[in-house]
Amino acid sequence: MIDLGFFGGFPVAVLGLGKSGLSAARALGNSGAEVWAWDDSEDQRAAARARDIPLVDLYTCNWRELTSLIISPGIAHTHPEPHPVAALAKEHGCEIIGDIELLARAQPDTGYLGVTGTNGKSTTTALIGHILELSGRRVAVGGNLGPPALDLDPLDTEGMYVLEMSSYQIDITLSITFDVAVLLNLSPDHLERHGGFEGYVAAKRMIFHRQTTPRSAVIGVDDEACRKIFADLTAAGDQLVTPISGETPAPGGVYVQGGVLRDDTDGQAVPALDLKEVASLPGVHNWQNAAAAYAACKAAGVAPPVIAACLRSFPGLAHRQETIEIIDGVAWINDSKATNANATAKALACYDGIYWIAGGQAKEGGLAELEPFYPRIAHALLIGEAESAFVEALQGKVPVTRCGDLAGAVETAHALARREGRAGAVVLLSPACASFDQFDNFEARGETFRALVEALPGERDERDMDKALAAGRGA
Ligand code: ADP
Repeated sequence: MIDLGFFGGFPVAVLGLGKSGLSAARALGNSGAEVWAWDDSEDQRAAARARDIPLVDLYTCNWRELTSLIISPGIAHTHPEPHPVAALAKEHGCEIIGDIELLARAQPDTGYLGVTGTNGKSTTTALIGHILELSGRRVAVGGNLGPPALDLDPLDTEGMYVLEMSSYQIDITLSITFDVAVLLNLSPDHLERHGGFEGYVAAKRMIFHRQTTPRSAVIGVDDEACRKIFADLTAAGDQLVTPISGETPAPGGVYVQGGVLRDDTDGQAVPALDLKEVASLPGVHNWQNAAAAYAACKAAGVAPPVIAACLRSFPGLAHRQETIEIIDGVAWINDSKATNANATAKALACYDGIYWIAGGQAKEGGLAELEPFYPRIAHALLIGEAESAFVEALQGKVPVTRCGDLAGAVETAHALARREGRAGAVVLLSPACASFDQFDNFEARGETFRALVEALPGERDERDMDKALAAGRGA
C-alpha cells in the first residue's frame, strides 16, 4: 500500500466506494488523513462501514474544510453533467483528482509507463508488465487493470509502475508524466462522458502531457484520429515518438506485416518475431498490441531479443478471446470483454463458421461496422436489452435466434453446432455490448459463460487447443 503522508491530519473527501475508492480511503486512513467517504449507494456505504471507513455525507458537509475530492473514475465530474458532489467541490475551489494522481504525488521518483486507447489496453498493459518483469525489472502493474493504484507496492527509483489508463482516469490524473506513454487506437466510445468524440480524443491525448525527450510516446497509426496525434507530436518534437502498426509498415517504428513483427526504429526493419506462432495473441488487433508492447519495452530499455522471447511466453488474459474448451470439435471462446462493436469486429475477423453470442446493453453506433464480417457468421444468438435492435440489424443478413439470456444462448448454440456439424466451427461470446443489464460486469458475464460451457455434454478435445484453434483462424 502507498503512503500518503502529505495528507496527514487533513480532511479528504472520497466519492465512490468501489474498488479504487475503497483503496483510496484505506490508503488515506492508514496515512493519518481524516477520511470523509461517501457513495450514493446504501450497499456501498454499508460495505465501507464494515471496513471501518468513516462516512460523511458529502452533500451536506462543510466544504470549506476540504481541499481535495478523490473521485472514482466512473463518476462524472464534467460531462454529461457534473455529479452534484463534484459540483459542490468545484464551487468551493476544491481539487478533483483520482487515485492514480495520489500515486504519482506519493512516488515522484519512480518510473511510469502508461497505456491507453479505446481497445487493447488491458492486453497491452499485461503484456508490457510480463515483459518488464521477466526482463528483471521491478514493476507493479495496476490502475484500470488489476489492483487499484494505491494498493500497489512502493517502488524505488529503478522501479516502474505500468498503468492501464482509461480516459476517465487520465481526466483526473493531473501531474503524472509518463516515461513511456502508449496510445493504441481511437474509435468512438464513452462519448457522453467527454462531450463528444473530440473531447474523448483530447482526454486520451493527455497521456503524453508534459513529456520531453528522452521520454517516449508510442502511438498506433492504424486509425485517423491517432495518425493526427502522431503527426502533431512529431511536428512539435517534444518527446521521442514511435509509430506502431498491427497491419502495415510504419517507417521508423515497430510494425507487423503478414504476422511478422518488425523493428524499424533503427531503419533496418529487422524481423523480431513471427506472431502467427504466438497462440495467445490472435488477430491483427493483438498484433497491434504486441507491436506497442515491443516499442514500449524497447523504450524502457529492454533488449529486443529479450522482448521477443517474453512475447512468446505471454499466457493471455481471461475474457479476451479466451478458449474455454473444445467440445465435439467446436471451440468455445469467451470474449466477454468485447463491450463495443469495434472490439467484436476484431474477434469476428479471426474465425469462420461462427455461432455468435451477442447482446447486452447496447453502445452508440450499434452493429453497423460489423457488416463485413457477416459472411463469417453461421448463426447469431442474441441476448439482453439489445436483442430487438440487433434482430432488426441482422435479420435477412444472417440467421438469427432470440435467446433472452446467456444460458439460453449457450444451449441453442450447442444444439445448432451439433446439428450442423460445420468443420472448424466456433461458438464466440463477443457481445458488442456492456453487461450491466444482466450482470455486475464483463467478468461476471464471462465466468457465467465459462460455467455454462463446462457443464455442457460432449466429447472434450484433449489435443493442444491452441493448435486446433490456429487451424480455424482467419487472421
Ligand atoms: P481494453 O482494456 O482496452 O478494454 P482489452 O485488452 O481488455 O482492451 O481487450 C478487449 C477486447 O478488445 C478484446 O476482447 C478484443 O476483442 C478487443 N481488442 C483487443 N486489442 C485490440 C486492439 N488493439 N484493437 C481493437 N480491438 C482490440
